[in-house]
Amino acid sequence: MNILVIYPQPDKLKKSRFGFSYEMLTISTVLEKYHNVHIKDFSCESFDIFDFVEYIRSENIDIALIECDSYALKRSQNILHAAKIIDILNQYVPTIAYGNYCYITKRNFGNAKYTIIENEINNIINCINQFGKDNIVPYIDAYDEIPYINRDILLKIPYYQENKRNTLLQTSKGCENTCIFCQRKGWQSCYFPHSDDYVLGEIKEIKRKGYQNVWITDENFTFNLFRAKRLLNKIMQANLHENLCFFISSWANIDEEFLNLAKECNIRIISFGIESGNKEILQFYKKNININKVPSIIQYANSIGIFTVGNFIIGAPMETEDTINETFELIKKCEFDQINIKNLDYMIGSALYESLNDELKTEDHIFACFENGLNKFRLNDIKKKKDTFLSEYYKLHRLVIEKKIKIYGTPF
Ligand code: SF4
Repeated sequence: MNILVIYPQPDKLKKSRFGFSYEMLTISTVLEKYHNVHIKDFSCESFDIFDFVEYIRSENIDIALIECDSYALKRSQNILHAAKIIDILNQYVPTIAYGNYCYITKRNFGNAKYTIIENEINNIINCINQFGKDNIVPYIDAYDEIPYINRDILLKIPYYQENKRNTLLQTSKGCENTCIFCQRKGWQSCYFPHSDDYVLGEIKEIKRKGYQNVWITDENFTFNLFRAKRLLNKIMQANLHENLCFFISSWANIDEEFLNLAKECNIRIISFGIESGNKEILQFYKKNININKVPSIIQYANSIGIFTVGNFIIGAPMETEDTINETFELIKKCEFDQINIKNLDYMIGSALYESLNDELKTEDHIFACFENGLNKFRLNDIKKKKDTFLSEYYKLHRLVIEKKIKIYGTPF
């Protein structure tokens, strides 16, 4: 069969770092051994309805899979365009909606003929097998049985060709920390690691293909710190870190031993989820990190030349001017190289969203603000506070980062 896998255009265009949908590529890789798989990634390709319909006809597409994504990991929600594409496609081919939005909401998506509501690749395989009865795709029985994603598929798309030194790698999925604002737990509640051998084999493949920058997509690479250290040691023993740069997301529950290994292994950027400088707010978020240890960990990472990103949230119900200032003071003390400060967002899939009164659940996400009765700050005031702080912070930090780049080079 000719199967088309589509990533619709995001509802809001965000300036974000390099990336692609790992799920889209995993599904395409699994199916391409048995079917002709085509990809349309409208997060980076332009969409024109006439060209699109012509494409469906000329390529004799038999069935279409449409990814309905949700907010996390720098990608925007894309359900408006997904619904539109499905309406167009329904005139020509059967449509299957899948993706994080479907796994969270657990209901049929728009007018899709089928919706996959469990985050389980065998459900997609099962659905495809109902159409291609002469070419049955076997089930995948273990996480390590998933083939390495075929990164070449993307190279037909100009954006990926232009970024052909960058790729993504998933060494584990899920994180069992208890953060109540975390939407990812809505589609992936358990932690699954790939075996060390699987990861080493995939990095070998990545090197062979000439990639240089590897963005590890794991929700929390250091959720199992023992495993993270073991993996980095093995990568170095096999010399796989040479000529590669890695980028990870991590919680702050790490130590200097890990940071030394990270430095040796060419981990250039660590993005830390810290969220607040106030203990009571961290308890409310159920963040489960030791805030007293955070400054020394970040300062140590900075001192050995790792570029640090701090992720913070403002807007908990008990947030005050003082607690916001505590967060700003923590940021200054840590001297992060980059800061992301978000307004607290009650996002569908998170425990926080579930805690809302039903009358507030009119949208898939609700900002915490005075207007919504969720804290004492107006949305605009939070934005102003954040923007003023960031502009002053970056002015002060400019010399520090310039010096760091002079000594250690640019992060990628
Ligand atoms: S540590 Fe990060 S990935 Fe894990 S639950 Fe918290 S926010 Fe989610």
